[in-house]
Amino acid sequence: MIPGVRLVVLGKQGAGKGTQCVRLSHHYVVPHVSTGDMLRGEVKSRSSIGRRAQEEMDKGELISDELVMEMVSGRLSERDTRGRGFVLDGCPRTTGQAEALEKIVEPFSLDLVIDLQVPTTLVLKRLASRRVCVDCGANYSTAAPPLVNWTCDVCGGEVIQREDDTEEAIMRRLSLYEEETSPLLDWYKERNLLSEINGTGSPDAVTRRVVGAIDELRQQGADRAVRVEP
Ligand code: ADP
Repeated sequence: MIPGVRLVVLGKQGAGKGTQCVRLSHHYVVPHVSTGDMLRGEVKSRSSIGRRAQEEMDKGELISDELVMEMVSGRLSERDTRGRGFVLDGCPRTTGQAEALEKIVEPFSLDLVIDLQVPTTLVLKRLASRRVCVDCGANYSTAAPPLVNWTCDVCGGEVIQREDDTEEAIMRRLSLYEEETSPLLDWYKERNLLSEINGTGSPDAVTRRVVGAIDELRQQGADRAVRVEP
């Protein structure tokens, strides 16, 4: 049986979180829960959450902790995520969200928090060339476009540049990451949950590093369990 996982992936915009989270969710057979995708879904369906969130999202501002955590709490209390776990992408982004998340997953705790590390010069290049499918969120770039005329290879949706991938919104999101999200790295380090992973290189190489870190953690847990047995 493939064991599930409760995993959070942190990293700057353009660090490759979305790509890695999809791969990790397949590897561990758990849902990929992306707050960005969920919010874009709300905007698209013109729900009340979506109407409240759209303007802030287009400017690159953060949505309120209450609204985001209400959405996350709903998703993480469903049977699939409760039972096998999840790969959480885009949340938490503030210490308030991290505290709320701790309560949501109780009586379990997170297995690991990955910090996907990529230099800012590289993320700026990646963001400028990033293109996404409006329907399924699959990621492409101007260097690696879909096979046919900006039509998604996965679902056939239209592949476009995101509304918030303008230079101004990118700079705002990166500075909010420094101010609001990077303090979380120490927060998780203190709780012994953080694993820093080099996010440069091919997607396959990065996935191998993340899976390696999780395997190592599980091995340490197993060794400890063996040692405490009578
Ligand atoms: P990126 O990581 O490139 O900013 P996302 O798809 O994760 O992209 O998020 C897009 C936008 O959705 C964010 O700029 C923000 O407005 C909103 N958002 C997503 N997740 C959160 C969150 N956890 N807290 C607050 N706002 C969020």
